[in-house]
Amino acid sequence: HLPVIVGRVTLPCNPSQGIAFVLDNTARKELERRKDDFINMASHELGNPLTAVKMQLSLMRRQLTRQGLQVPVSAFSLMETQLNIISRLIDELLDVSRIQNGKLEYRREMVDIDELLHEIIDTLQQINPDHTIRVSGTATIRLMSDRDRLGQVFTNLISNAIKYSPNAETVEIDLDASSETITIRVHDHGLGIPREQCDKIFERFYRVSTLRQKSIPGLGMGLYIVAEIVKHYGGVISVDSEIGKGSTFTVTLPIKDASDSHC
Ligand code: ADP
Repeated sequence: HLPVIVGRVTLPCNPSQGIAFVLDNTARKELERRKDDFINMASHELGNPLTAVKMQLSLMRRQLTRQGLQVPVSAFSLMETQLNIISRLIDELLDVSRIQNGKLEYRREMVDIDELLHEIIDTLQQINPDHTIRVSGTATIRLMSDRDRLGQVFTNLISNAIKYSPNAETVEIDLDASSETITIRVHDHGLGIPREQCDKIFERFYRVSTLRQKSIPGLGMGLYIVAEIVKHYGGVISVDSEIGKGSTFTVTLPIKDASDSHC
């Protein structure tokens, strides 16, 4: 395909390096809008057939059992696991699109933070038996918030800590609460992030550019969604990392803000 250049030429730069074409603002916005529309449509278009396939699969499983036939358990679980991976990606695409349109919704319910975190750790430990996940501290606190959304924050950070620790190094999680805030720290001894890219990883679709990181699959949506949810609850997320040594992600949530105003 030939490259299509939209917009006006505004900035001729160093002739030895060629000419820089800069999109004017209107064209750039239009392009962004079309990209957002595309993400929104694509996630819906992919989600509908996927739901149909999932329903058909569970129907087949039930029919086989009803007819007294043996269910090929491993084949079914393999298909279900793969479908769940696709579902999660589509859900993340939908969330990204909702954030762009200011339509990410939050339920209001009492969430036991300690219990939620332990439930997520148990699940992730089962899926990743090679890694050791260690927890310290407690926060016997209930927040008026959205359980699934907070779950997304914890799941993403812990899954990343596991995913970017390819030699199965231990992941440490620390929970701390004061009268005003809850702090969750997720510390890994994995690949680490180059210092100059630490801020960028919270941007939409950003992935660290080192070869080692790029060899690990991902689409750069998780931390963007996490940062948005934390922001919604008036919290702060930060990362401290050293390449080759590991990373620590810290989330601090105000107890008052999460309960009172932002749901
Ligand atoms: P992805 O699906 O690519 O993992 P995320 O938004 O969750 O998307 O993360 C953005 C990028 O930040 C990742 O592609 C990865 O390069 C980097 N990253 C996130 N968490 C870690 C971590 N714990 N250790 C090293 N790099 C990380």
